[in-house]
Amino acid sequence: MKVVRVVGYHQDLKLEEAPEPTITSPLDVIVKIGAAGVCRTDLHILEGQWAEKSNVNLPYTIGHENAGWIHAVGDAVSGLTVGDKVILHPLVTCGLCRACRFGDDVHCEDSLFPGINTDGGYAEYIKTGARSVIKLDPSLEPADVAALADAGLTAYHAVAKAARVLRPGNVVVMIGAGGLGHIGVQVMKAISPATLIVIDRNPAALKLAKELGADHVIQSGDDGAFIKEVQSLTGDRGAEAVIDFVAEGGSTSTGIRMLRQAGNYYVVGYGENLNIPTIDIISSEINFIGNLVGSYNDLAELMVLAAQGKVKLHTTVYKLEDFQTAIDDLSAGKVRGRAILVP
Ligand SMILES: [Zn+2]
Ligand SMILES: [Zn+2]
Repeated sequence: MKVVRVVGYHQDLKLEEAPEPTITSPLDVIVKIGAAGVCRTDLHILEGQWAEKSNVNLPYTIGHENAGWIHAVGDAVSGLTVGDKVILHPLVTCGLCRACRFGDDVHCEDSLFPGINTDGGYAEYIKTGARSVIKLDPSLEPADVAALADAGLTAYHAVAKAARVLRPGNVVVMIGAGGLGHIGVQVMKAISPATLIVIDRNPAALKLAKELGADHVIQSGDDGAFIKEVQSLTGDRGAEAVIDFVAEGGSTSTGIRMLRQAGNYYVVGYGENLNIPTIDIISSEINFIGNLVGSYNDLAELMVLAAQGKVKLHTTVYKLEDFQTAIDDLSAGKVRGRAILVP
């Protein structure tokens, strides 16, 4: 089969021939790839940023946002039939460790991450485990949802966590209305009665956020006037929750100033350091909450919203062979929505 592989860091990906994956364990599942999302993490992998963390042997096949059709299943797999449309939770988990038993798939103690530390979905077929497979509603196609497997899942995980404690009349601020943020807006409006304020530097992103249901959109800038706007929209108390999809370029220091007493600050993006006097933390009782990808159940719930038409993803389709164009376009900021590769 055709695969697109990392052959070396700081080198271009390479299209190669490789044997199809085979069932070697009773809970293995082989999926015929319908689409694989092209993610900024793929660029970071090529830059070598993941080399030490993943410890992967080169060459290997990247692609961690995968959906397709069941191709083969191991002896112990039930409930899946060849040809079923599926999306894959990004990790292959053990099901036996303490984290797995809490439904906290991301922190499994014995997991594989196809596309990161083992062969992924820039290919015609991928091997995963039965625990990672979610069947799609008949109304959904693999290419419509593949990119929700990571970007969408991460947004859902953070937004659903915030929504669980938000009440009618509460206010939530989202910083960043890009790839993750525009999914976050749709999820928040679908599952929470809280008033949603979206902040971004980019007027086009704000226009989209408004179309997707944001109650208020505010353009951020260097003068900090947007903080005053948030304060006035919250009766000078601040928001119950701030969800930061950016966490770069000073967004956290301004974001914290929009939070009310005992509010929750959800960190999703990463890059900069939090800088806040500890006395401000104790006196205000604000909470900082980290968010990493999402669980199997998060992805299953997100697929319900997708099937209900409440979460839609704009995608730009490339043939698998045109992987380099997709990578170059993503790198140059030329992709509208999310890029996907289709074999
Ligand atoms: Zn990704
Ligand atoms: Zn586990």
